[in-house]
Formats: sequence, C-alpha cells, structure tokens
Amino acid sequence: MTTDLGRSAIAATALRKAYGDHVVLDGIDLDIPAGSVFALLGPNGAGKTTVVQILSTLIRADEGEMRVAGHDVVRDPDEVRGAIGVTGQFSAVDNFLTGEENLLLMACLNRLPRRERRQTAADLLERFDLTDAARKPAMTYSGGMRRRLDLAMTLVGRPRVIFLDEPTTGLDPRSRRTMWEIIRGLVNDEGVTIFLTTQYLEEADRLADRIAVLHRGRLVAEGPPEELKRQVGGGHITLRFADPRDYEQAARTLDVVSRDDEACTLQIPGRGDVRSLRALLDRLDHASIAVDELRVHTPDLDDVFLALTGNPANPANPANPATEQEPAR
Ligand code: ADP
Repeated sequence: MTTDLGRSAIAATALRKAYGDHVVLDGIDLDIPAGSVFALLGPNGAGKTTVVQILSTLIRADEGEMRVAGHDVVRDPDEVRGAIGVTGQFSAVDNFLTGEENLLLMACLNRLPRRERRQTAADLLERFDLTDAARKPAMTYSGGMRRRLDLAMTLVGRPRVIFLDEPTTGLDPRSRRTMWEIIRGLVNDEGVTIFLTTQYLEEADRLADRIAVLHRGRLVAEGPPEELKRQVGGGHITLRFADPRDYEQAARTLDVVSRDDEACTLQIPGRGDVRSLRALLDRLDHASIAVDELRVHTPDLDDVFLALTGNPANPANPANPATEQEPAR
C-alpha cells in the first residue's frame, strides 16, 4: 500500500467483510488525514459499526489492508489498541460504579502513575461537566451524561485516534449539541483524529471535514460536506393552505417543486433562513394568499440517499430522525 502514513491517521484498501452470504463491506478504501474529523454516514445496518470494529481490532476483516495511527491493524493490533480510543453503542461505563470510580478504573487499566489518577479523573469530570455527579452511580445518569462519561473514559488513555460510533443516537437535541461542542473541542485543542459514524446528515455536516456515505457495502460518495450538500440540493419549504383557492393561487405564483392537491400543500425550494422566509410570507401577503401552515425541511439522510442512489435510506422504515421544524407562524 502506498498511502502516506506521515499524514494518514487511518488508511484502508479493499476492506471486505461478510457474515456467511451476507456481504457487509464490499471493498472499502479510506484515507483519513491526521487531525481531521471523518464521518461515515449510513442508515441502520449499513455496516458502520463493522468498519469501526475492524479498524479498532475488535473483529477481523476477511480481506484488505489497514493501518491506524501508523500501525498495521492485523500484524500489530496491540500497537493500534494503544493509540486509539473507542466509544460506541456498547459503552464501557460500569453502571454500579460512580462516574469518578469509572474514571479511576480506566486510569488504573491505562497504568497511569498512582499519584496522577485522581487529578486526571477530576480534570475530566470538570471538563465534561460531570463534577456534581461524580459521586453518583452511573446508572443514575441521563443518556447525555453517560455519553460524556464514556468519552471522558476514552480520553484517559490519551488516544491519538478516536472512534465514535453513533455518539449522539438517542440523545435529545440539547445533549446532542453539547456532544458536538465537545467533539469539535477535542480536534481543535488536541489535534486528535476522529472517526465518527452517524445516521444524521446534520451531525456529519457540523463535525466532519470529510464525509463518506456507505450503501450496500460500498462508499457511494466521499468528500467535504459542502460537496455532498451540493449533490443533495438545498432543503425545501412545505406550505399548507386551508382554502383551495389560496392553494391554487399560490401554486400559480410560486416556484413549486411538488404539489399535493388533496392535502392542499405545496413544496417550494428554500433553506428556511429568516430573511427568505420573511420574503416568502411578504409575497403571499401582498397577493392576499392566506397560508395555514409552513414547515422547513432541512436535507436529511433520506435526501442524501435519494440523491445518490435513487432510493430512500430506510425503505422499510420511512420514519427517519425528525428534521422538520415547526412553523414560525
Ligand atoms: P450499522 O452500524 O451501520 O448499523 P452494523 O455494522 O452493525 O451496521 O451491521 C451491518 C450488517 O452486518 C447488519 O446487517 C448486521 O445484521 C450484520 N452483522 C453485524 N454483526 C454481525 C454478526 N456478528 N453476525 C452476523 N451478522 C452481523
């Protein structure tokens, strides 16, 4: 393999993995520069966790060459393990221990000198806003607190490469934003490399320098978020009208993407920023068109998959994480 390892924190070529007849990864290439955030985007079951498990030495690939933090994943798994941190859906947090005890245990496992352990735990508890909960058992923590503790535990070993497997799935929007700030801070302050998996386009967009989209075992797109968003197109705005006459008049007046005559709704292109929403509403007001409801739709995983593959991300489960925002009226 010819990847420049001085620059690459993670490099893989022709990575393959199957379970029986089920091909999960069908030839994946990765080249992730040190000090960057890479997001692997895909729906449930796409194989994201499998990639993380292979790169973090938890399971073996069937084929492919991989290097993480300069070490060969197959030949030197111990070196890889010493250089990485992994947090994921199967968290390392012990429910019966307090937050502080969990961190002290990690410090012990990482063979930190005894005199440094308490200080390291205290620093991490403070940094992750867990000082008040430090003496409470982890089982009493909220979802957001658990994720923060899990990430704090990962940092005890001072990893250069961190794998975050769906770090905000199941969190409320506020806890999700807190995690985003923490993750960005790690990269900006410490120059670590982050490999993130997510089902949320918005999350990949906020955090990643580059995004790759996993579909049927292959990467169907790879590039900076702007590039992906350009391919996906902007969002749209849905307008619903109570009076069919208003609906018809609006359909004649506006640049309509699609219409639903039965529901009296129109979709028009738009990003939902305040200035363009105000201009839209002014335009409808001037034409004396009464709009009953307005929704802003930011592009989500389904839009990515429709744009890239012509198929929705979750055909069996169209209920995707919500990205509809309630109206400003
Ligand atoms: P994601 O993280 O994107 O949700 P996963 O990597 O967990 O996806 O799973 C990818 C596919 O591999 C799924 O269809 C899953 O059922 C299958 N899979 C994962 N682990 C195993 C296993 N140990 N045995 C059989 N199939 C598995």
